[in-house]
Amino acid sequence: MPAKLIDGKAIAEAVRREAAEETAALVAKTGMTPTLAAVLVGDNPASQTYVSSKGRACEEAGMGSITHRLPATATQTEVEDLVRQLNADPNVNGILVQLPLPKGLNEQAVLDLISLNKDVDGFHPMNIGQLVMKGRIPQFIPCTPNGCIELLVRSGIAIAGADAVVVGRSNIVGIPVAALLNNADATVTICHSKTRDLPDKVRQADIVVAAIGRPEFVKGAWIKPGAAVIDVGINRIADPSRKSGARLVGDVAFGEAAEVAGYITPVPGGVGPMTIAMLLTNTVRAFKIQHGLA
Ligand code: NDP
Repeated sequence: MPAKLIDGKAIAEAVRREAAEETAALVAKTGMTPTLAAVLVGDNPASQTYVSSKGRACEEAGMGSITHRLPATATQTEVEDLVRQLNADPNVNGILVQLPLPKGLNEQAVLDLISLNKDVDGFHPMNIGQLVMKGRIPQFIPCTPNGCIELLVRSGIAIAGADAVVVGRSNIVGIPVAALLNNADATVTICHSKTRDLPDKVRQADIVVAAIGRPEFVKGAWIKPGAAVIDVGINRIADPSRKSGARLVGDVAFGEAAEVAGYITPVPGGVGPMTIAMLLTNTVRAFKIQHGLA
């Protein structure tokens, strides 16, 4: 495999260590602890797992972590009232509403309510708006997209001047990652389900970010030799050889792509671990903003 593996686990570990060091310094300076409050509505098992991993990561970094659980039958008003209460609580620095919310709840209305200074997921339209505006700096950058950039930067991959292709244009990954690459002076092409000649577009890219949600969709033959490939996809596919009967793969055909690329992220162990690491960084930042230390 000629490509160099981008070790997301190790890079995430370094980011988490830095967040822990900064937390210790802030606790010593202010006597207060940066704290993340998570709102979990309903009993989606994946959401429960994500929220408990985030809580554990906070505690390991010396941060406070509070989880508010509401039943799947919670009303829009109940969820919104909880967010308002957390906005007003000076002991809560970051608020994370775990998505998706149960059917019938208006996610956008809930996200819009989160105080801008506590929006550690970075999904408030004001934060996204500032991310895509020239010369504006958002308070917070969404965690997974920011994690993709951190992987490139910490692997010494030049972004400025590079041709970057982002496959996927979701609000949570594709669009913010494209904005971040543009802000870092890459020339960015955003591709989606209506893009013509996708393989040709990808072949132009020095940096490819795949955020599609389709297992092993991007083929090795699409990759420009030496390109950096960041695979955001997390797809569970059947694998009878495993005890669990399944395994995780990305949106890139890893084996083929690794033969051609210069750098590549594995799945799991690439972008995945970065999301929680960047959430810790954002929670430290929220604390600093709220205490006039940013
Ligand atoms: P969405 O389903 O919201 O978006 C998928 C995007 O891919 C859309 O823009 C869609 O285009 C595009 N797409 C779909 N099919 C094709 C196709 N045939 N050709 C080209 N483009 C296509 O997914 P997300 O952005 O939420 O997630 C993407 C992947 O990243 C998923 O596997 C998800 O699990 C993973 N993920 C991982 C995270 C992490 O590592 N922590 C966090 C978030 C997501 P169109 O807009 O035209 O429909």
